[in-house]
Amino acid sequence: MDLHIHSTCSDGSFTPREIVELARAKGLKAIAIADHDTVEGVAEAVAAGAESSIEVVPAVELSIKNEPEKDFVELHLLGYFIDHQDEELNDILNRIVQARIEQKIRQIKVLQDDGIDVSVEEVFSVVRGVPGRPHIAEVVMRRNPGRFASKEELFAEYLTVGGKAYTKRSFSLTLAEAIQVLVEAGGVPVLAHPGAYNKVNDVEAMIRRAQEIGLQGLEIAYTYNKNRPHYGLAPAEMQTLLARFEALADELDLVKTGGSDFHGEGKDIELGEMGMNYVEFQELKIRSSFTATLDQS
Ligand code: AMP
Ligand code: FE
Ligand code: FE
Ligand code: ZN
Repeated sequence: MDLHIHSTCSDGSFTPREIVELARAKGLKAIAIADHDTVEGVAEAVAAGAESSIEVVPAVELSIKNEPEKDFVELHLLGYFIDHQDEELNDILNRIVQARIEQKIRQIKVLQDDGIDVSVEEVFSVVRGVPGRPHIAEVVMRRNPGRFASKEELFAEYLTVGGKAYTKRSFSLTLAEAIQVLVEAGGVPVLAHPGAYNKVNDVEAMIRRAQEIGLQGLEIAYTYNKNRPHYGLAPAEMQTLLARFEALADELDLVKTGGSDFHGEGKDIELGEMGMNYVEFQELKIRSSFTATLDQS
């Protein structure tokens, strides 16, 4: 079961329907499309899943507003079993997407002012849903051969926090607000890839603070070895990392989830490469029905 997948509705390269088809071919029993700041792909995936007996969990991966004083920096919050038709959730996601569009345009302008060949039109022509920095990176790499040794270098110089073209979004949710929005939409808020936050000073203390304000889960199994900042992490070190978060999740009574962060082509990750087992999946489900009762009270 792979509960962390991106589709063309954000920065993935396969449509929700194609992902369900891939999942069927791989024999996965349950999946979640967890696109960045959008639930646009959920309905299509749920419908396709029903046809092929694959359980599709309605999900989203929210990009959280930085609060450096709380050590909440560049966090991603997953929401599982959300009501993807929840009106308030959709209103807020629409505002976030508008702010993203406006932010990407500003980022492209900074790149242009610095002599990089890239246009707003071309970037948005490769976007099929919600725009993200990978779309800008794709065009910059294509248009400026030799300027950057790799996408990583482009991110480091321009797009990452502190980079020359890093700009804030005019609207985004704090961690507390995002947790509340997800819970109100009947979802379980889960911190994505806790081992990937290299801008957070003390990850364990940060997770404890997040739990105090309502975080309910921690993503454990994750393709750290295929992602920043742990590319090429050895299997033994990976085990150590996962074990550390597993112990913390147990201590704090957080549900444990897992997923591949599959984005399709352009990233060397396979669908279902990482995930969760049946028991963990049932625990997440139980937690989601508990959340639903919380919301009604
Ligand atoms: P955005 O949605 O615009 O905030 O972009 C976030 C996406 O950019 C992440 O999901 C990653 O796929 C990608 N990303 C972020 N930082 C880096 C980096 N340093 N190198 C490569 N890709 C990155
Ligand atoms: Fe992404
Ligand atoms: Fe993420
Ligand atoms: Zn992701």
